[in-house]
Amino acid sequence: MRALVTGCAGFLGSHLSEYLIANDYYVIGIDNLCTGSAENIRNLPKKKFKFVKGDITKKIKVAGKIDEIYNLASPASPLHYQRMPIETMFANSLGVKNLLELAIKKDAAFLHTSTSEVYGNPLIHPQVESYFGNVNPIGPRACYDESKRFAEALIINYQQRFGMKTRIARIFNTYGPRMAINDGRVMPNFIMQAINNEPITVYGKGEQTRSFCYVSDTIEGLYRLMKCNYSMPVNIGNPQENKIIELAEIIIKLTGSKSKIIYKDMPKDDPERRKPDISLAKKLLSWEPKIGLEEGLSKTIPWFRQFVRKQPKR
Ligand code: UDP
Repeated sequence: MRALVTGCAGFLGSHLSEYLIANDYYVIGIDNLCTGSAENIRNLPKKKFKFVKGDITKKIKVAGKIDEIYNLASPASPLHYQRMPIETMFANSLGVKNLLELAIKKDAAFLHTSTSEVYGNPLIHPQVESYFGNVNPIGPRACYDESKRFAEALIINYQQRFGMKTRIARIFNTYGPRMAINDGRVMPNFIMQAINNEPITVYGKGEQTRSFCYVSDTIEGLYRLMKCNYSMPVNIGNPQENKIIELAEIIIKLTGSKSKIIYKDMPKDDPERRKPDISLAKKLLSWEPKIGLEEGLSKTIPWFRQFVRKQPKR
């Protein structure tokens, strides 16, 4: 099998490329390195992996056959997409259109990574795929939420007009090794702060919730979705829900940190609660996450320790 993975040098893209190669794929990876890092793909075997520095919003040319396209090319952390709002919107609109056209040309199956952000600040809990969401179209998260929603609509309409094989994964918060240490998300922030014994920055009172899925579970879910003949969106996430303040306490405990918790302003439009209903994924894909939060953190913390800041000598 030959797959195209866009965003291959990112956190999820690099894990997915590795997974596909381990499953005997030849992978062509595209990334413009706006948030990804060449370091993430440095160890992939040259015989099984080809890297192309490129941007999906520009013309994409790939020689030879492609059986499957996995689209993971988009900034995903609030810090990054708010720094590159227009680029993010074009990646999820023009970029997705270009990939859909490529999929038609190559007769390839196309999997798009959408997001739990399509539910916005949800009024239904847990979030089920049939929920339309509660999104502010002009808020600070709109460049991401709305463009991901546009991408879903575009894919569904291409699927209906051209009868192509498309898949849409709505990914909930995922964590693990290779997250960028400075992408501003809660996992890198808290883990880096804890291992450096610096204050842990909880936004608001930390009462807001998220449900964190370990990266290997997410990747397995994406792969199974690609193999499943279902073109409507499917939630991929871990239904174990935690308050952000609880996450801070767990990370302090697991790292043996001396950090204190400090409270900062809550960002505008930050969703209050988030938890996937994964009944559909369980039924369609015979999939559910295997790795709980503490186990996943124990696999993630050692990776961040390589970036520990040197403490000044007293
Ligand atoms: N958060 C926090 N402190 C931080 C970074 C994030 O309290 O240093 C909170 C943030 O307000 C949100 C949650 O953690 O409620 C998850 O934020 P993240 O940026 O990781 O992802 P999101 O799910 O909001 O896209």
